[in-house]
Amino acid sequence: MPEFLAERCMDCGGCVGVCPHDSLDLFQGFITVRASCTECDLCVRLCPVDALASVRGPR
Ligand code: SF4
Ligand code: SF4
Repeated sequence: MPEFLAERCMDCGGCVGVCPHDSLDLFQGFITVRASCTECDLCVRLCPVDALASVRGPR
């Protein structure tokens, strides 16, 4: 699942809306990724400030 780089995030909420599995939570500038993430990378591509990085774990 994507790695979150908190120091880059500008709290826009765009990634939360784009996730097809509702896997992202945004709270006070911090994103958490739920286990339901399928690593589709839509959020990674959407984030305007590269605060989400694609990290593919073992499946
Ligand atoms: S990689 Fe895809 S499924 Fe995972 S949090 Fe991002 S948009 Fe959602
Ligand atoms: S799209 Fe990027 S900047 Fe916006 S809330 Fe998500 S991680 Fe933060």
